[in-house]
Amino acid sequence: MGTKRDYYEILGLDRNATLDDIKRAYRKLAMQFHPDRVPESKKKEAEEKFKEISEAYAVLSDENKRRLYDQYGHAGIDSQFSTEDIFRSANFSDIFGSSGFGSIFEDLFSDFGFDFFGSSRSSRRRARRGRDLQVKVEVGLEEVLRGTQKTISFSRLQLCPSCGGGGAAAGSGKRICPQCRGTGTVYTSAGFVRLGSTCPRCGGEGKIIDRPCPQCQGRGVVKVRRTLKVNIPAGITEGSSLRLRGEGEEAEGGKGDLYVKISIRRHPLFERDGVNILYTIKISVLKAVLGGEVEVETLEGKVEMQIPAGTQPGTVFRLKGKGLPDIHSRSQKRGDELVKVNIEVPRRLSNAEREFWEKLAKLKGESISSAGGLREKIRKAFR
Ligand SMILES: [Zn+2]
Ligand SMILES: [Zn+2]
Repeated sequence: MGTKRDYYEILGLDRNATLDDIKRAYRKLAMQFHPDRVPESKKKEAEEKFKEISEAYAVLSDENKRRLYDQYGHAGIDSQFSTEDIFRSANFSDIFGSSGFGSIFEDLFSDFGFDFFGSSRSSRRRARRGRDLQVKVEVGLEEVLRGTQKTISFSRLQLCPSCGGGGAAAGSGKRICPQCRGTGTVYTSAGFVRLGSTCPRCGGEGKIIDRPCPQCQGRGVVKVRRTLKVNIPAGITEGSSLRLRGEGEEAEGGKGDLYVKISIRRHPLFERDGVNILYTIKISVLKAVLGGEVEVETLEGKVEMQIPAGTQPGTVFRLKGKGLPDIHSRSQKRGDELVKVNIEVPRRLSNAEREFWEKLAKLKGESISSAGGLREKIRKAFR
C-alpha cells in the first residue's frame, strides 16, 4: 500500500492548468497507456496507470472536486467521495466521444457495476460491487513522526463460503422468476403508456432461489470479522484516509475498498502546525535577563537549548529539523519545533530575595511599592 501520488503530477500539469490543458493531457496519456496498445507483459501495469490517470482526470476536470483537492489534497476527496462517486460523475464521453474507446472503461471499471457511456451498452446487467467501508484509527504525534503499523479489526460482508454467493442451498439452484418470467422487469399500463419497473420478486435478476442456503439464509453473504495490519506513513495528517483496495465488503460484483480514516491524538505538550510542532516553555525572569541553558522537550526526548541574555517574553526559538516529515515530499526533511518562551515572574519572594529586588530597583531609580502597598492602593481606588 503506497501513498497516492499528486493528481497534477500524474497528468504532468501544474496547478494553474485550465480545463482544456487537463483534457489535452489526459487524452494524450490515455492513448499512451491504453491497455490494448501495449504488449501483453505490460498490460497489468498499463491498466493500473490508466486507472490512475483516469482518476486524476475525473477529479481535476470537476470544478468542485478540484477545489476540494487543491485545498485539502487527497484527504479532501477521499473523505467525501468513494472511487465510484469520482468516476460516476466524470465526463469521459467528452474525451472519447462515442468512439469504441469506451470499452476500456467497461473492462477496467466493471467492478463498479455501472456504465460510463449511459444506455449504449447497458443492456447487460451487472452485479453490484461490495460496499466501501471505513475504519477510524487514532495515532499519536510520535507515530506521525516515524510512521507506524496498526492492527485494525472490523466486520464485513463476504461471499458465503457454502453457496459461493449464489444464495442457493447445495444441490439446488435458481429458477426463472415467475413474476417477470425471467425478464427482470414488470410492466404496468397507464393509459397508452406501459411503464416498466424492476421486478420486486427477483429484484431485477430474473431468477429466484429455489431453496435458500442455510448458512446465509439465501443472502449470499455472511458477516465475518477481519483483522489487518495497516501501515500508516510518517507525516500523516488529521482527517486523511488511506485506501486499502478490495478490503471492503464483498459482493458478487467484486470487493469494495476499505478507507482507514486517521485522526491525530492530542498531545499533552505539543501542538501541530503542518510539519512544525509548537511548544511553550516557562523560564525564570533571571534566566531571561542573564541567559543560560534550558531543557526543552522534543518528540524524541529532552534537548538542551541556549537562551540568550535579554530574552523577551513571547520570543520564539526554532529547533531545526525537530518537527514532522512532510507526507507529500519524498525527502527525509522534517519541519521544525518552535519553542515559545514565557517568562515567569515570581509571585512570592523571601525576605532576602525582596531585599535584592528592592536594591536593584533603587539602582535603576524605579519607584516601587512597599509590601502590601499595592493592595492598599487598590482598596483606595474602589472606595
Ligand atoms: Zn450461502
Ligand atoms: Zn422477477
